[in-house]
Amino acid sequence: MIHHFAVGDLSCAVVSDGQPRPPLEPPLAEFFTPDTGVPERELRAAAADRTTLTCGYNCLFVETGAGLAVIDTGLGRDFTGYGPYMTPLVGKLGDGLAEAGFAASEVAAVVFTHLHEDHTRGAVGAFPDATAYAHAAEVAFWKDATSLPDVRRGPALEAIRVFGERLREVEYGAEILPHVHTVDAAGHTPGHTAILLRSRGERLLCVGDSFYDPLQLAHPAWRTPWDHEAERSVRSRRRILAWAADESVPVHAYHLPFPGLGRIERRGDAFAWRPLA
Ligand SMILES: [Zn+2]
Repeated sequence: MIHHFAVGDLSCAVVSDGQPRPPLEPPLAEFFTPDTGVPERELRAAAADRTTLTCGYNCLFVETGAGLAVIDTGLGRDFTGYGPYMTPLVGKLGDGLAEAGFAASEVAAVVFTHLHEDHTRGAVGAFPDATAYAHAAEVAFWKDATSLPDVRRGPALEAIRVFGERLREVEYGAEILPHVHTVDAAGHTPGHTAILLRSRGERLLCVGDSFYDPLQLAHPAWRTPWDHEAERSVRSRRRILAWAADESVPVHAYHLPFPGLGRIERRGDAFAWRPLA
């Protein structure tokens, strides 16, 4: 699945690495748990009749003045980690890339919002000529996270290893490629980075894993088990949502249903998701 659009002079395409649909969807109760501060009855009341989360993997290609860039890269072709039912449904980035008319060798830059495996695996060995970009704190965190089990830490280390000297460590508030800027979204992981595209007065804010589901707009304090820094993740989510809402910045959300493009609206102290038509 491919969705072409533009941000000012930047040609963009959302290429799906996978879009599982009902009934092959993860339960909401795996994302919002009593351990992360969401009691079961609260989840039931908020979700109405819905019991699953429609989780997309929306990789974003941007044709920059410095070549073709991709922001986050999905789970990769041979991923089996989410169980056999998911395997045929994900890892489709390479097919989508070809369908969009790009060659893997054309990809000059791989921008990681963070180094969780569903953002990095698709890049491993796929883009031989690309320079990778990740926040310095993100790279340091995974290198130092010796207390995390190998199954969680391994994919990040593999991405760091594979890119080697082609990995550039960046800071927040930087223009890392022409018209491509990093924005502080720390908390989901210590170096979690939103990406702002800005061209000819138009903008698009790629929020990475700032939220997984519109329920987190209605309930910005709701966390998931994958948010490494609880309070910081909530602060970042509120700040990003408020900014996007108040300045009407269109948003690209990696995990919302394909293509994950929409706007944020204020609803009192909380927010709502308006998918782009
Ligand atoms: Zn993540």
